Amino acid sequence: MKLIVREIFYSLQGEGGRQGEASIFIRLSKCNLKCTFCDTDFDNGYEMYIADILEHIKQYPCKWIIWTGGEPTIQLTDEILVNFRNAGYKQAIETNGTRNVPSLIDYITCSPKINYYKVKEKIPFAQEIRLAIKAGDQIPDISIFPKADNYFISPIFDGEKPNMRNINYCVEFIKKNPVWKLSLQIHKLINIE
Ligand code: SF4
Repeated sequence: MKLIVREIFYSLQGEGGRQGEASIFIRLSKCNLKCTFCDTDFDNGYEMYIADILEHIKQYPCKWIIWTGGEPTIQLTDEILVNFRNAGYKQAIETNGTRNVPSLIDYITCSPKINYYKVKEKIPFAQEIRLAIKAGDQIPDISIFPKADNYFISPIFDGEKPNMRNINYCVEFIKKNPVWKLSLQIHKLINIE
């Protein structure tokens, strides 16, 4: 079995409910959306056997994988994930909420980009919902999203730099709607991967 991989790196989770935790990021190629603010190159990549990925990541003293993309559900199946579970890894995923998530995922971050009201059909529960927001965006009522342990809004940066207009908009929104929390992309602030 093979995956088309864009990159593998070891860093800290920069956002959301696992912020600050060491994690092995495996960025897979391919996405089914084309968001205007997307800062990820998901078109290119190289094929890797599952065994080679396992061999590569064992250098890291960490047992959390974050499957990201692109849209990682395009390639991931339980048949693939079981190899990582059997090797002792916990597996998180960052998904745009347009597709079903394999059952062996331990932690779902759902970041819907379109058709918010349809996400529940694909993902009934997520550990976190995280919306990327810019000033002026309409944020729908929380009830249309899947049930989640945490609901975050994440102000969109200008590349690697914080955008204070977007941040202030999110802060004011959360003060009025305190079920939401702020998620800042701290990996950009502290200049790590
Ligand atoms: S879903 Fe994510 S990876 Fe895909 S285009 Fe949108 S921001 Fe980029």
